[in-house]
Amino acid sequence: MQFHDSMISLVGNTPLVKLNNVTAGIQATVLAKVEYFNPGGSVKDRIALRMIEAAEQSGELKPGGTIVEPTSGNTGVGLAIVAQQKGYKCIFVCPDKVSLDKINVLRAYGADVVVCPTAVDPEHPDSYYNVSDRLVRETPGAWKPDQYSNPNNPLSHYHSTGPELWEQTDGKITHFVTGIGTGGTISGTGGYLKEVSGGAVTVVGADPEGSVYSGGSGRPYLVEGVGEDFWPTAYDRDVTDEIIAVSDKDSFQMTRRLAKEEGLLVGGSCGMAVVAALRVAERLGPDDVVVVLLPDSGRGYMSKIFSDEWMNDYGFLEQAGDAPRVGDVLRRKEGGAL
Ligand code: PMP
Repeated sequence: MQFHDSMISLVGNTPLVKLNNVTAGIQATVLAKVEYFNPGGSVKDRIALRMIEAAEQSGELKPGGTIVEPTSGNTGVGLAIVAQQKGYKCIFVCPDKVSLDKINVLRAYGADVVVCPTAVDPEHPDSYYNVSDRLVRETPGAWKPDQYSNPNNPLSHYHSTGPELWEQTDGKITHFVTGIGTGGTISGTGGYLKEVSGGAVTVVGADPEGSVYSGGSGRPYLVEGVGEDFWPTAYDRDVTDEIIAVSDKDSFQMTRRLAKEEGLLVGGSCGMAVVAALRVAERLGPDDVVVVLLPDSGRGYMSKIFSDEWMNDYGFLEQAGDAPRVGDVLRRKEGGAL
C-alpha cells in the first residue's frame, strides 16, 4: 500500500517547473519552485512544521498547548494543519481589514480567530498587537511562534528548500530569486545554496516598491505577504547579493500572465518574484539556471488580482497594446469616443 501517515508528511518536496512563455527572448533556463503543492497551499507549511517541532523539543509547547500568533494568511493555515494533527489548539489574531474568506479558511481548519479593529492606535487595549500579547499571557499553555524572530523560520528553508533545489538542479542552479517578507525564505534557502556551492550561487531578493528592503520608507503597496516597514531578525542581509524593487502593476500583470501563459494560478508575490527573476535572466547566457520561488496559489486572490474590475479601479490593466475588453468598448461608446 502507498500512503502518507498524515498531511504533515506532504510538506516540502515541491516540484520545479520550467517557465516557457513569459521567458520569450531569454537565453537562461528559468525554473519555478511551485510551493502551492504544499498541503496548506503555501511555502509557510515548511516553517509551521519546523517551528512547532522545535518548540516541542525545547519544551515551550507542551501536549495540549495553544498556539497564539498574529496572522491572517498562509502561516496561519500551515500552523493550523500541523497543530490539529498534533493535538494543539490555535488562536489567530487578525485585523478587521482581512477578508472573511481568509478568516473562514482558518476556522475551517479548526482554529479560533479573534478579529481586532483596525481603526485604533497600537496602544489601544483592543489593538491587534495588544490582543495577541494578552492572549499569550492569559491562555494556559500558550506559545507564540513569532515567525519574524523565530530562527526556525529560516532554518526550515536551510534544511528543506535549499537542499531540494540543489538536488533538483543537480547543482546547476546559478541564481536564486525570491520575495522577502519575514526574510526566512531568502535567508535559509539562499544561505544553504551559497554554502553548498562555495559562494557560486547569486541570491536576489524581490521587494515591492515602497518597502524598506529596497530602500523605501515603508509606504503602502498592494502585493501581499512581502515587503516590510521594519527589519525582522529572521532576515539575514548578508545572504542577499541584490534586491530588485517591483511595482504593484508589474507584479499583478505578471501574476495574470503566469495563469494565462504558464498554467500557474499563483499569488501576487509570485508575479513580483517572476518579474525580478526575468530582469536577472535577461542579463544571463544559456548556461545559467535561474530558480524563482512561487510562495502560494492564486485562489486567495480571485476578487483582487484576477478581477478585471479591481485591477481597473487601480489602473493596473492599462498598458500599450492591451486588447480592448467588452467593458472598455462600451464605456468609450457612451463617451462618444468611438
Ligand atoms: N509571499 C507570500 C504570499 C507570503 O505569505 C510570504 C510570507 N510572508 C512571502 C511571500 C515571503 O516569504 P518570507 O516570509 O519567507 O520572506
